[in-house]
Amino acid sequence: MLHTLRRIVNEVNEAQNLAEALRIIVRRVKQAMDADVCSVYLTDAQSAQYVLMATDGLNPQAVGRLRLARGEGLVSVVAETQEPLNLADAPAHPRFSFCAESGEAPCHSFLGVPIIHHRQVMGILVVQHTERHFGEDDVSFLLTVASQLAGAIAHADASGGIKGLADDEAGGRHIDGLPGAPGVGLGTAVVVYPPANLEAIPDRAIQDTEKEVAVFLAALAAARREIKDLSRRMSAALSREDRALFDAYALMLDSRTLEARTIENIRAGNWAAGALRATIFEHARIFDEMDDPYISERAGDIRDLGRRILAHIQNNATSQMDYPERTILVGEEISVTELSQAPLERLAGVVSGGGSTSSHVAILARALGVPAVVGASYLPVSRIDGRELIVDGYKGRVFVSPHAAVRDEYQRLAREEEELVAGLEELSSRPAVTRDGVRVPLYANTGLLSDINPSLARGAEGVGLYRTEFPFMMRQQFPGEEEQCGIYRKVLEAFSPRPVYLRTLDIGGDKVLPYFPIHEDNPFLGWRGIRVTLDHPEIFVVQLRAILRASAGLGNLRLLLPMVSHVAEVDQAREIIMRVFDELRGKGEPISMPEIGIMIEVPSMLYQIEDLASRVDFFSVGTNDLTQYLLAVDRNNTRVAALYDTLHPALLRALAHVVLAAQRHDRPVSVCGEMAGDPAAAILLLGMGISSLSTTAASLPRIKWVICNFSITEARNILDEALLMEDSGAIRAFLNDRLDAAGLGSLVRAGK
Ligand code: PEP
Ligand code: MG
Repeated sequence: MLHTLRRIVNEVNEAQNLAEALRIIVRRVKQAMDADVCSVYLTDAQSAQYVLMATDGLNPQAVGRLRLARGEGLVSVVAETQEPLNLADAPAHPRFSFCAESGEAPCHSFLGVPIIHHRQVMGILVVQHTERHFGEDDVSFLLTVASQLAGAIAHADASGGIKGLADDEAGGRHIDGLPGAPGVGLGTAVVVYPPANLEAIPDRAIQDTEKEVAVFLAALAAARREIKDLSRRMSAALSREDRALFDAYALMLDSRTLEARTIENIRAGNWAAGALRATIFEHARIFDEMDDPYISERAGDIRDLGRRILAHIQNNATSQMDYPERTILVGEEISVTELSQAPLERLAGVVSGGGSTSSHVAILARALGVPAVVGASYLPVSRIDGRELIVDGYKGRVFVSPHAAVRDEYQRLAREEEELVAGLEELSSRPAVTRDGVRVPLYANTGLLSDINPSLARGAEGVGLYRTEFPFMMRQQFPGEEEQCGIYRKVLEAFSPRPVYLRTLDIGGDKVLPYFPIHEDNPFLGWRGIRVTLDHPEIFVVQLRAILRASAGLGNLRLLLPMVSHVAEVDQAREIIMRVFDELRGKGEPISMPEIGIMIEVPSMLYQIEDLASRVDFFSVGTNDLTQYLLAVDRNNTRVAALYDTLHPALLRALAHVVLAAQRHDRPVSVCGEMAGDPAAAILLLGMGISSLSTTAASLPRIKWVICNFSITEARNILDEALLMEDSGAIRAFLNDRLDAAGLGSLVRAGK
């Protein structure tokens, strides 16, 4: 059964639209369960009806026409109870209703299961039989099919919806994700995709057909050579039978249909990679449908071959990425590297199918001031290239090919947004002082040299977090001491005499270096930050030498250690720092010992503030990681993103505790996680008595506005009230009210 299930899921995933996906489901499920009828009804939320969307066994004319009102028939019972309904004698059920237009034969057995995605009933999958009563195995199978297909149906629904968008009267069809970076961006979609990943390849219109045919043929020839080579190298180690696999590969590569069909697809206007994807999926589907398990397994081989040919197409690709004037970067999973490769002056927005608000790609987008939506998991990436998009980074919403009215509305919002930012700019030369005269230093988070000027322009009084891993991520190998020294010197000089908190290399988790891969099952609980640098003193020492040398004669360096979870790590790091410092001083470098602090981002450290206070000069709370570890919510996982909330009462209480404990030992505490850039949260941090805040340059003016509009006494009162609340939703609503009451409502909505 597992084999059948996998086959169905594969086929559905490759379907081009919702209608095709549903047709595949009903045909294959009916076959697999030996049923007389299989149908799918989907929920139409607007009309509160269940619509027959595909059937094998009922009257095909009823598809799209047969609509059951909520509460009508057995289908509604399944939707209401959200559990399987298995009846041997369906007509005897009090809610049974007979629909003449369905062409329903007298089926006595009825089995219906809900299709649920993200707690929503997307639809109902039904099988019927004239005689046979469905057993427990049938129920389990149908439930498994429905649960596996729910995501694919949701995905296909969104894709199908795209086609209808242009004709949608309301012009309001959209794809929802999560807010990644605030702002509104309008532009053209440019899809980026990982190498050798067939599923991620978009369709793309072409100008030069012959060139694409040549690209494909060259890649095919290279793949043939590769397989021959592999076969030769393996011949000594493999038996004749096992070598047959390579022969089968070679045969497939030589098949005229593979070549001819792909060229046909290219001539129909698709580029080589897209045409290849279509051919490979078409072929794989034919094998998938075979009942013989051995033959159907060959579908996997075909996909593998497809990936090989694709890799050659991509290796040979001479054309550079083309970025239109207003580019919206789109991808299943956009990496920090892909984002930083796009020319900033053309970047109008970012849309990532994966990730969440606290993913590093979102953080980088915020640093660059580019509106972003992340976790848009229904994004039909393969069909979106070149389309007009609107990115609403406040709501986490993407409009595809929007109607003129929607476009006009968003253009107005974008203009108002620009005016708001321009209005706030005049705050940049003023310090952040509360209404009762308390000065709160505001620093910028960065890791990019291109960020320095915007940060200065927006009134940053220093750099509260310089993520040194970003320059490491943009290179092909570890940058040497001189190169690093040059980068750090630029930042330190640009801000001197204002402080710069340079954080030592914090790789691991979702920050991977292409030249230093770390493969782990649980990367966020694995080899990250200081754990890596302590294990690799050769990398750590080079970085420390570069940092200390860069600080010569400036005196504004502060050293920040990431991901500390044991006090011993601080001791070990300090020892290495002292050694490097002594060596450099011994050589006559005019450097002074910087203050050293640690990031508080692992919960264990919350309970050892006293022990740490004797070892460090300051604390900086990394709320991005502290939230993920305290709430056990992967900061990158879209599925649990709604649970990731920096206003969670536990996090607020933890922060208040850190500030109090550190104050007792006279150690300053700053917050450099994204929470510091959230206007609502800033009021609470102010009330806690935080020493400074550090956030992305783009958020600085907003936070300054908040600070200038509240007194510490008011902030303390608000904090006291918030700390009594049990739920982050209530806290958010309460804080938004207070912002509104202070005349700062525009900070929590798009526009002015
Ligand atoms: C944090 O964890 O809050 C932080 C600032 O570090 P990063 O986001 O780089 O992990
Ligand atoms: Mg962190």
